[in-house]
Amino acid sequence: STSSEPSLSFSDLDLSPIMLRALKICQFENPSPIQAGLIPLALEGEDVIGQARTGTGKTAAFGIPILEQLDPLEDRCLPQALILVPTRELADQVGQELTRLAKGVPTSIAVLAGGKNLRKQTQQLSDGVQVVVGTPGRVHDHLQRGTFKTHDIWCVVLDEADRMLDIGFRPQIERILRKCPKDRQTLLLSATMAPQVRILAERYMFEPKTVDCSSKDMSVETIEQHYFTVDADKRLELLMRLLDRETPEQVIIFCRTKRGTDKLHRKLSEKYDGVGCMHGDMQQRERDRVIKQLRSKDLKVLVATDVVGRGIDITTISHIINFDVPQDCDDYVHRVGRTGRMGRDGVAYTFIVPGEGDVLTSIEQRINKQLIKDVMDGFDHPVP
Ligand code: ADP
Ligand code: MG
Repeated sequence: STSSEPSLSFSDLDLSPIMLRALKICQFENPSPIQAGLIPLALEGEDVIGQARTGTGKTAAFGIPILEQLDPLEDRCLPQALILVPTRELADQVGQELTRLAKGVPTSIAVLAGGKNLRKQTQQLSDGVQVVVGTPGRVHDHLQRGTFKTHDIWCVVLDEADRMLDIGFRPQIERILRKCPKDRQTLLLSATMAPQVRILAERYMFEPKTVDCSSKDMSVETIEQHYFTVDADKRLELLMRLLDRETPEQVIIFCRTKRGTDKLHRKLSEKYDGVGCMHGDMQQRERDRVIKQLRSKDLKVLVATDVVGRGIDITTISHIINFDVPQDCDDYVHRVGRTGRMGRDGVAYTFIVPGEGDVLTSIEQRINKQLIKDVMDGFDHPVP
């Protein structure tokens, strides 16, 4: 199904010359499937549910139609579009991507994420912004303080809706949505359509159209995916051997817990340079620094919990290693989706310890593909 698709270009999508030029500067040659499907519907004013895996360009899919339809920036203007995202990192990232896409047009975008200075955000809001990108917690905070006004909102985006609901943001999201004008447009993006995502869509969207690219996104299937069977206490040794064998450009190693992440980070730092870690207990400033270091390639190895399993977009990640198996199969897809973004090659390794045979089976069912067994001398555990 990959060869016969006609290649659509951005100029087929009825975009302004300014936007087409910005896309050229961004080096976006052709729209991804979710962009080709969602942009025309969003420009028509439809409510849309977009389903596509991470790394497929969902930000521009909702960002382009929003930027195309913004009323010009004026002093003290009220927000016209609201984009809710699950994490602070994603809020920054979406803000940056929109700024890039807005090239050539003065545009004011406020990022309202928790852990950041509230007064600065309030000042920015009162100076006038067109687009708000934020986490539901902080946006809700501003709503209650009366510093975020929703009267002029004509578009709400729920980005990574499944993730936001997993985190437990449903009450804030619902309160925010109820405060936004009824005749607004709502766009919902999600990698999966979990039941609670459907319920949210039914309650707060008007006759939504669906753009489902989940089966077209073959990338997670084209990522080379391997597994090792190994005793739990031999994983560190295996990991080091694997890193020496693979010499990855950049690698994310996933652990299940914060403590486990810290511990592995310490151990790896004794042996390698450029090792960082990230989990939900870290201060926002530290997390920002880690992301920056990863972007600038000062970090080559990131040990992380599922906090960064979704959404973080760094295109140079060549390897994913699941030191601990993910809690569920969606998490597996999200973790592995950190590599092989927009068609680049990537490799993923999963360590399976004795007793985790069914986890392997359910992952294989989820991705509809068998993982390749890899062996390293002296580590193989016979029964998965
Ligand atoms: P998602 O939200 O689906 O995970 P992103 O919006 O973060 O994906 O996009 C992933 C990466 O792909 C980003 O670096 C983005 O700039 C890039 N990208 C998006 N659309 C295109 C395109 N049409 N052509 C090339 N690169 C693109
Ligand atoms: Mg995204």
